[in-house]
Amino acid sequence: MSLRRKTRKVIVGDKQHGFVGIGGNAPVALQSMTSTYTYDIDATVKQINALHAAGADLVRVAVPDKEDTAALKEILNQVKIPLIADVHFHFERALEAIEAGIHKIRLNPGNIKDRPKVEKVIAACKERGIPIRVGANEGGIVERGNKSQRAEEMAALEHDYKGQMTAIMVEKLEEYLRIFADADFYDVVLSAKSVDPEIVLAAYSECSRRFDFPLHLGVTHAGPPETGRIRSVVALGALLAQGIGDTIRISYAADPVFEIEDGRELLQVLGLRLRTEPELIACPTCGRIEIDLISMMAEVRRRLKEIPVPVKVAVMGCVVNGPGEAEGSDVAVFAGKHRGVIYVQGEQVATVTEGEMLDRLFDEVRKFAAKVQRGEATLKNQKVDIKPPDPIGELGSGWEKIRKEKGLSLPVAR
Ligand code: SF4
Repeated sequence: MSLRRKTRKVIVGDKQHGFVGIGGNAPVALQSMTSTYTYDIDATVKQINALHAAGADLVRVAVPDKEDTAALKEILNQVKIPLIADVHFHFERALEAIEAGIHKIRLNPGNIKDRPKVEKVIAACKERGIPIRVGANEGGIVERGNKSQRAEEMAALEHDYKGQMTAIMVEKLEEYLRIFADADFYDVVLSAKSVDPEIVLAAYSECSRRFDFPLHLGVTHAGPPETGRIRSVVALGALLAQGIGDTIRISYAADPVFEIEDGRELLQVLGLRLRTEPELIACPTCGRIEIDLISMMAEVRRRLKEIPVPVKVAVMGCVVNGPGEAEGSDVAVFAGKHRGVIYVQGEQVATVTEGEMLDRLFDEVRKFAAKVQRGEATLKNQKVDIKPPDPIGELGSGWEKIRKEKGLSLPVAR
């Protein structure tokens, strides 16, 4: 991991909803957007609270109409997390949202044609200390109003689509930022989103070289989680690993709680957010598996949700990688011949049958979690002295077993 890129810091929130920093020394903030009609107060509050409970730091709501901004005051009364108003086309929505007490505005100056209108929004935000995210999205970036400029941009895109699209996005951001600089307003977060991870990588890398504003990372229209996950994580993960990015939103065509779950996991695996829930390590299984590990997984995940500390649990199918993972986990089981050996921080505590394995594993996980809560045990304090031959005994080590089965000699290490 590279060091985090130094940026300005903006603060989003108030006393009632909490304060969230974006940029500077603040941890990478996790956000999502509601999929409800904002005027439907009950549905919107319910979804915001679900996102908050899942780990969101910020939630954005769309305010296409006056009835949406009219609902904001009551929504803000009922939630405890800072909210962002997503404004397109109508600068009045931004002013109404600011009046209602919104904590941040997302604005696309490209679709608010008159500069004085953008300036009015900037002035209102400046007066109340509300930051603005200025975004350039691939989908709406090519000029539509000015015919000759549109023809010029379209011709450039034909020649080298990705390179030119990146250039246009960065250029538009620069153009928008001039309006903000002229108003002496620097509480700005930038975004340059695309559906194409390559463009996202190039555009944000360029933005990070040119501007010191915090960056909101995202891949737009990524699709459902099944297909959008890789698209999002490949771009956002690569940028975050290079120290680029101050807040992220993963976008899925699904319940937005999935966006927070995946975003949180991404930040945790990159070491950018402290893990708060248990971590599960499990082998993918292979021809050496001797228990029904895949069927067990759903139940392991369900039971882990009830564990209140971020204990690391490994469930391994055989002795090949079992000892290694047992060494690195707080509680581990590795199986063989329909039996499992359970370890707690590297110490063998039980050998059980396949039928007993799940209950005993969770007995040990619960006991260990309770010890951590009482301050009698520390997480990730594993002993590293588990060595094959495996303690199941008759299996022998993985290589030994394979060699015997195939009548081969052990491979020689080079
Ligand atoms: S732990 Fe064993 S069963 Fe699981 S994938 Fe590795 S070798 Fe295969």
